[in-house]
Amino acid sequence: MKSVSNSKIARGPYGSRASFGFTLVEAIVVIAIVAMLAGIVIPSVSKVRTKSLLVQCASNQRQIGLALQLYANDNEGIYPPTTHSVSPFRLNESWLYELDEYFTDSIDTIRICPADPEERRQRILDRNSTSYVLNDLVFDDVNYRFPRRIPNPAQTHILFILSEDRTPNVTRDHIHGGEWTNWISALNDIEPDRHRTGNRSSDRTKGSAPYLFADGHVEIISASDFKDKFAEGVNPAEVPL
Ligand SMILES: [Zn+2]
Repeated sequence: MKSVSNSKIARGPYGSRASFGFTLVEAIVVIAIVAMLAGIVIPSVSKVRTKSLLVQCASNQRQIGLALQLYANDNEGIYPPTTHSVSPFRLNESWLYELDEYFTDSIDTIRICPADPEERRQRILDRNSTSYVLNDLVFDDVNYRFPRRIPNPAQTHILFILSEDRTPNVTRDHIHGGEWTNWISALNDIEPDRHRTGNRSSDRTKGSAPYLFADGHVEIISASDFKDKFAEGVNPAEVPL
């Protein structure tokens, strides 16, 4: 008697089934669940990736900031020049190459914004260019190229990410901040929404970018906050007094 009831339990709930195959309804339910999970997981993976590229980019900028301070200390308090002011025959004396000895990571890591598309990153390397462009209103100014003369270093932008609309080349290592009369003209030079998930939005306010300031700190600013400065009548490239 006991052994009969045991064998009934051992057969379990599916014991009487002829086969273990899925029915159509079960298959549809499984597919629906997998699709739903993918919908949750895939965007969060791309958000994590966006975040990690942002951290790497901020780290590149911090190293550039530190290298600029060390360079100025070693060179009578003067920042290195951009290609705007070095002789065309001495482009390897522009800031990126002058700073090389102060970088701890390789120059080819530091010169590239990791959020630039892969093809563009390769082109930047091939053309000895950079994703990062210095503020000419500081570096090509007879006064402010001495960082000690900058009145508000914590509020003075010194570096930006080059606009994807600009073809990288060896002399493109600085902006022309005097031409930034509005948000649209700044977009000709820089990419304030470089760090974003997906494509540019039509008004270019989706996303953000890290920004290096003259005191060496790096701040993440959303593209929409950056755009607001122009609406307030402020040119962020100008040196605040
Ligand atoms: Zn120039």
